Amino acid sequence: EKAVTSNFIRSIIERDLASGKHKSIVTRFPPEPNGYLHIGHAKSICLNFGLANDYRGRCHLRFDDSNPVKEDVEYVNSIMEDVHWLGFDWGEHLYYASDYFDKLYEFAEYLIKAGKAFVCDLSWEELKEYRGTLTVPGKDSPYRNRSIEENLDLFRRMKAGEFPEGSRTLRAKIDMASPNLNMRDPVIYRIKKTHHHRTGNDWQIYPMYDYTHCVSDALEGITHSICTLEFEDHRPLYDWFLDQLPVPCHPQQIEFARLNLAYTIMSKRLLLELVNNHLVSGWDDPRMPTIAGMRRRGFTPEAIRDFSERIGVSKANSLVNDELLMFCVREDLNKRAERRMVVVNPLKLTITNYPEGKIEDFAAENNPEDPSAGKRKIKFSRHLYIEKDDFSENPVKGWFRLSLGKEVRLKYAYYITCNEVIKNEKGEIIELLCTYDEKSRGGWTEDGRKVKGTLHWVCAESAIPVELRLYDRLFTLADMSNMEEGKTYQDYLNPNSLIVKQNCLAEENLQEAKIGEHYQFLRIGYFNVDYNSKPGALIFNRIVDLKDSWAK
Ligand code: ATP
Ligand code: MG
Ligand code: MG
Repeated sequence: EKAVTSNFIRSIIERDLASGKHKSIVTRFPPEPNGYLHIGHAKSICLNFGLANDYRGRCHLRFDDSNPVKEDVEYVNSIMEDVHWLGFDWGEHLYYASDYFDKLYEFAEYLIKAGKAFVCDLSWEELKEYRGTLTVPGKDSPYRNRSIEENLDLFRRMKAGEFPEGSRTLRAKIDMASPNLNMRDPVIYRIKKTHHHRTGNDWQIYPMYDYTHCVSDALEGITHSICTLEFEDHRPLYDWFLDQLPVPCHPQQIEFARLNLAYTIMSKRLLLELVNNHLVSGWDDPRMPTIAGMRRRGFTPEAIRDFSERIGVSKANSLVNDELLMFCVREDLNKRAERRMVVVNPLKLTITNYPEGKIEDFAAENNPEDPSAGKRKIKFSRHLYIEKDDFSENPVKGWFRLSLGKEVRLKYAYYITCNEVIKNEKGEIIELLCTYDEKSRGGWTEDGRKVKGTLHWVCAESAIPVELRLYDRLFTLADMSNMEEGKTYQDYLNPNSLIVKQNCLAEENLQEAKIGEHYQFLRIGYFNVDYNSKPGALIFNRIVDLKDSWAK
């Protein structure tokens, strides 16, 4: 394992442990179950669980499920699966903000009794207007000075469901003149007559995020509450609530820059739109930046954890190059993906001096990076297929692949020379006639003559047809937060983000490939067996190409 690089969060933790402020640390990953997790969440998971592992503390998984409108158990389940898949475990520490609804309610009455909260009858539009802006100070609500008794009575009746949605809210009594908009008497509770996926119809009122979050952290004994930079302005409110309430502890909120990845979007709302508008096949479409999509595509947890470590944590928002992620995937798969040969665009090749009917076996290394991966047998015969692109009638300067009169090496097998090109009526090349050098078995000769080009191939007698799905970036714009005016993300969808190649030919050994397995197809890329594969009809997702693998 790599050495970890320090960062400002580690510095804070180390200081708190050294000073005895905390004996051990408690972090949490608090997703709202309103969509599938994406690579940005993966960063937060790796960070929070990673810190807990490194400092022998613990990390809670908490569902921030206080907004029933958009939440669903499907998302709860997918989130648990994704965190486990990434390699982390919350053990017994699984929590739901909805488990604290009683306590949150009790604390809200506490605030009312302390004169720190009031029931407000302004509508959402009026609330917005009264709130002011960065340049316009807020105005006190006309209901701000209700008596504690009246507030308590109204709040209890809100809870009992006596009032319609939107008619009343409970608000903190802080400061409408604060330069920080979050401190202008923020709403703590709103009326929502929505069924909750865990509490059913128990509640007619639901607590707001800012209130729920800090109280949940405190109730769980979180020491370091790590969140993204947008919440920096919310920290005074986080601290305000915890200062007013009789909570067991006061966690420290620490903000870091969220991950923005080039050529994709990371908002759950927009990802949901892609799914609902059928612009992708689902949350786990291999082009999606979701963990489910990346898993299906064939990314490994090791690669994602490595990526997360490499990008580090910082205080400044930036756009991370997607090539870094691809680099991490190649690094990981190079070590453990077995090699196979697959021809994407088959061109028939006949070795005229090789006996008809003869079949020979070659031993091929499964992984040159890992001798323990062993060898496999590959069949060779007079009839082969190579890649159409590996032959040129008019080779450019420096062309090392096949052309008329040129000698190349067939990987693991023999040297061959092309002598004749056969075309159809339309003038398209349909077959190459070649001869082989019997003495070049295994891909070398005693005279040591130079043969630069090495091609992959399959044996026509034994190859199996497979489907390859080649993926590219989902969007054409690197910084999707910087779209041209009047355009939406739909204007930037890459029409070539998925190319399906049917009737590719794979070496016979792939017959045994299992769903989820990783392979390197020589010169083509890293692939993963898609779960839509059927026996005899395998589908492979290209995870990433090999980069500069195409020697001319
Ligand atoms: P969205 O805005 O897409 O709904 P969110 O931030 O509201 O995303 P949550 O479910 O609340 O999603 O996120 C859970 C945790 O993941 C939060 O602590 C949040 O800070 C973190 N997180 C979300 N997106 C990113 C990101 N792009 N980079 C780093 N951390 C992120
Ligand atoms: Mg959200
Ligand atoms: Mg959120």
